[in-house]
Amino acid sequence: MKTLLTEKELQAGVHDMAAAITQRYGDRPVTIVAVMTGALVFLADLIRQLKMPIRISLIQASSYRGGTEPGALWIRDDMMLDIEDRDVLIVDDIFDTGRTLHAVSECLAKMQPASLASAVLLHKEGCQVIEMTPDFIAFSIPDEFVVGYGLDYRDLYRNLPFLAALEPADLIEATTVQE
Ligand code: 5GP
Ligand code: MG
Repeated sequence: MKTLLTEKELQAGVHDMAAAITQRYGDRPVTIVAVMTGALVFLADLIRQLKMPIRISLIQASSYRGGTEPGALWIRDDMMLDIEDRDVLIVDDIFDTGRTLHAVSECLAKMQPASLASAVLLHKEGCQVIEMTPDFIAFSIPDEFVVGYGLDYRDLYRNLPFLAALEPADLIEATTVQE
């Protein structure tokens, strides 16, 4: 695999995003809804750069089942906090086609937050099928399958401190659908 973003570059991007988020919300409390599991590492780094009161709520959404091709999208929201009348910021790892963020936004909008915005670590260029742009984007990357810094391939590589693009030799054809 080849490194796309080093640990240092990732930290700088998260730092800049935290500044932009602070600019928008100031001292107002923010409820973060993090999309598990890919947003885990990004979430941990981002929230430690934010000084306003933060509540953290988790949602699970997945369209990748053990491989690199998207499957059916599912959302699990039974770990959600009450977000009615709250300023809500969705935090996700990557905006690829946009289907996940769009579906999560629709799901949360029904819960009547005071405001709803989104922050993604990565934006994959040229893959969007949904007309939606995340409010905060740390990095734009080419259309490659990436792992590390929370992102997985068949549930592995999430713990890499850097972001890497998988090369054909790294890919094992997914033969079984995993839950
Ligand atoms: P979308 O619904 O925007 O097509 O895809 C978003 C979700 O797919 C992300 O939250 C992420 O979980 C997963 N995803 C998209 N591209 C990649 C990638 O390059 N690597 C990994 N590991 N996951 C990806
Ligand atoms: Mg995801």
